Amino acid sequence: MAPRPQHGRSYTPSFPHSQISNPQSHSFAKETMAAMSAACHSPARLSISCSSSLPARPLRVAVVGGGPAGASAAEALASAGAQAFLLERSPTGAKPCGGAIPLCMLDEFSIPLGLVDRRVKRMRVLSPSNLAADFSRALPPGAHIPMLRREVLDSFLRSRAADAGATLVPGLVTSLSLPVGPTDPYLVHYISSGGDGPSPTRSVLEVDAIVGADGANSRVAREVGAGDYTTAIAFQERIRLPDKEMEYYDDLAEMYVGGDVSPDFYGWVFPKCDHVAVGTGTVAAKPEIKKLQSGIRARAGPKIAGGHVIKVEAHPIPEHPRPRRVVGRVALVGDAAGYVTRCSGEGIYFAAKSGRLCGQAMAKEWRLTGAVTEAGIRRGYLRRWDDEFLLTFRFLDLLQRVFYGDNAGREALVEMCADEHVQRRTFDCYLHKRMAPPEPWADLQLLWRTAGSMVRCSVLGKEVQRLRRLEMLQA
Ligand SMILES: Cc1cc2nc3c(=O)[nH]c(=O)nc-3n(C[C@H](O)[C@H](O)[C@H](O)COP(=O)(O)OP(=O)(O)OC[C@H]3O[C@@H](n4cnc5c(N)ncnc54)[C@H](O)[C@@H]3O)c2cc1C
Repeated sequence: MAPRPQHGRSYTPSFPHSQISNPQSHSFAKETMAAMSAACHSPARLSISCSSSLPARPLRVAVVGGGPAGASAAEALASAGAQAFLLERSPTGAKPCGGAIPLCMLDEFSIPLGLVDRRVKRMRVLSPSNLAADFSRALPPGAHIPMLRREVLDSFLRSRAADAGATLVPGLVTSLSLPVGPTDPYLVHYISSGGDGPSPTRSVLEVDAIVGADGANSRVAREVGAGDYTTAIAFQERIRLPDKEMEYYDDLAEMYVGGDVSPDFYGWVFPKCDHVAVGTGTVAAKPEIKKLQSGIRARAGPKIAGGHVIKVEAHPIPEHPRPRRVVGRVALVGDAAGYVTRCSGEGIYFAAKSGRLCGQAMAKEWRLTGAVTEAGIRRGYLRRWDDEFLLTFRFLDLLQRVFYGDNAGREALVEMCADEHVQRRTFDCYLHKRMAPPEPWADLQLLWRTAGSMVRCSVLGKEVQRLRRLEMLQA
């Protein structure tokens, strides 16, 4: 939707010339910067930003990062009439990712089925002793887990943001100039990679607010002092399989647990259009990641034999939310905020959801008050986010601590994955992103079975570790 003038006050569409400048594109770079800086503090501008009546011009927001979080934020902002600038350093790149999304995301984010590479209807979880639990027996009829390639999903979401009116800016954000006063603009400094000239050019964008959607190594978070978080490292190989082996993974995904594939996470084989994505992750043993990757390849063994690696990729995954997710008029979303669940490593849906919530909150506050404020973003975005998802994140955190610590816990986890009650509740929670209502009697029985599994498996787990040690001695 195009931004509209309000209350009969004059409105001049201001992109790109009034907000983006390229200091290297003419010889008066310093003058331009000085003029821009002066302009930022000019009374005329202040009168626009400060206005507590309805806004006379659209809100200007820089969304840094064009993954699911950034694209969704930009789409929400533009749809609400804001000027959204979506800055992405690598528009043709592919984020390293397993690409599994919950079913509800297709509807909620209107993602066409045609973008889905594979619809996984069978999910197998394999224990350290290679016992397999068919985790998909309780998958409701017609349900599936969509698997996509991120380059496909991300470029679709970015195009849709552009269709809604967002301006796509190919460029690497290098720093921010923070405002002095509460209504002064932010300056976003970036190296544009989409200019006409042969070499990249330095440019500056002036905005009222910023959405940091730039992933786990967020530059925006660093610039505003949002604090650090622990990260895991995830490693993945895209392996093209011979037809027969690929047929095996037609609608099947596998998850492997065990100290050999990860001391604190799981390894996966996820099917994609013409290959499988095979990977693993860890926080505790980052320097060992390649050895763990060999572990998952060894466990999948003959099922991926004859395949050749077409791509190797790795990326950090946040372990918990950042200490500060909103600083001034800067809000972090997606991985930049730290929204990946432990235990499952899921982040795509949470990225898109947080981006959308944040964009909507900023646009609404601007529309109602003519300003965007830290308190408003906290109220409209952070509080709603925490109300909806904090419990899920804490629950999965607890599960990881209970079940991923050693092979005994992992054996118990796989045993429990075979339980239909567990499957039903997991799918409710994962596929539809809703916490299932408590079923006291069934839950109590489950607790009892879990305790039984933990005891049984601590014996089995020790035995598996002993056998593995023997195997290694003999090798
Ligand atoms: C190997 C691996 C497997 C995974 N598998 C799954 C899975 O199967 N399912 C799932 O739900 N989640 C998975 N995740 C997690 C998921 O990938 C992330 O949670 C999700 O990508 C977060 O989206 P985002 O938009 O917040 O950040 P990102 O997808 O990381 O996007 C950030 C964007 O910002 C851009 N950017 C960064 N810095 C700058 C800058 N300075 N200037 C301009 N642009 C910048 C980047 O190029 C990137 O496009 C996996 C992660 C990894 C590493």
